[in-house]
Amino acid sequence: MLDIQKIRADFPILSQTVNGKPLVYFDNGATSQKPQVVIDAEVKYYQEINANIHRGVHTLSQLATDAYEVSRGKVKEHINAKFAHEVLFTSGTTHGINLVTNGFASILKPDDEVIVSSLEHHSNIVPWQMLCEKTGAVLKVIPINENGELIIEAFDALLSEKTKVVTVNHISNALGIINPIKYIIDKAHSFGAAVLIDGAQAVPHLKPDVQELDCDFYAFSGHKMCGPTGTGILYGKEEWLNKLPPYQGGGEMIKEVTFEKTTYADLPHKFEAGTPNIAGGIVLGTAIDYLNNIGFDNIQEYEHELLEYATKRLSEIEGLRIYGTGKNKASVISFNIDGIHPYDVGSIIDKLGIAVRTGHHCAQPIMNFFCIPGTIRASFSFYNTKEEIDQMVDSVKKAQIMLS
Ligand code: PMP
Repeated sequence: MLDIQKIRADFPILSQTVNGKPLVYFDNGATSQKPQVVIDAEVKYYQEINANIHRGVHTLSQLATDAYEVSRGKVKEHINAKFAHEVLFTSGTTHGINLVTNGFASILKPDDEVIVSSLEHHSNIVPWQMLCEKTGAVLKVIPINENGELIIEAFDALLSEKTKVVTVNHISNALGIINPIKYIIDKAHSFGAAVLIDGAQAVPHLKPDVQELDCDFYAFSGHKMCGPTGTGILYGKEEWLNKLPPYQGGGEMIKEVTFEKTTYADLPHKFEAGTPNIAGGIVLGTAIDYLNNIGFDNIQEYEHELLEYATKRLSEIEGLRIYGTGKNKASVISFNIDGIHPYDVGSIIDKLGIAVRTGHHCAQPIMNFFCIPGTIRASFSFYNTKEEIDQMVDSVKKAQIMLS
């Protein structure tokens, strides 16, 4: 059993008031809050070992380099990658996905096919569209049903020898649906296609095992899992990372540069041009340690309780519809109230201290499917409480009365 009050004390921001009310932070899907150990680790880096990495022989540079590589090792262990050099530091999920689509520009041929799903965030749609435009490949889309679940038979039917890449998110940011990615990965592989999983919404809730999943790429952001903004990871299987060309050229990613020919560095440096977010990369390791100390089994169990409770409480409100009613869900609830624009509800409950996200959540195709402009999305973390859910429900009821 988690001691939630003790955990909440780790997060200084949670004791704030907003608009004169205690903050109820339910926008964890957008970014998580940061525990004091993470904030302290960022300060400590700049106070004690700030230097550029992989460059100087001097002591500070060595300390910074060592800390950065220790963090890479932590990520490797956390996601169970086979090698540390399969773990690339990025600025976030968006960066990781673009790195892969850029690489596939030199692999795909006209009429090759790329399969994405209707549940994707724009950052896992637009880069693939750009890739298809560049190469003449064709984008195919897995549809969803009324519960917001992928229609798996439709996915099966889209697969063929033409399929070169399949990409889906592990968990949908807009609806919270957990996708059957193991099935998708295995099935795509049986057609020889590579698979990229967008794990942005999964890593705050679970610990992915990339070897067990057998995915070719797994991208995620640090800021959604208690780490700093501007940090992220792209896991790629060694054979794929060796096959793909570098994403950006610059310092640190080369073996030798002459005007006649440049040779590239070995993994992971081939994909890490320029000075990275050194402090962020190191502190992401601190965030992962923090989450593992709480334990993902505990996190999942507690967040599931929050999800069930919030679903039950919100369902009491007349005229409230929840989107994404599939069975397998993370602690995210997207909803609307009949006849009221989601933005109006969001603005009123913000005045009551409740932070939720309203809008299309960078997933316009899902909103188009349900014929709505957007939803109100409450996304819960392990530091949230049932009392906070009660406050949100009361506030939504007040907003409904004011706006009806
Ligand atoms: N994919 C999903 C499913 C997301 O929820 C997000 C962030 N909302 C992203 C990708 C993009 O992440 P970032 O902005 O950190 O690059």
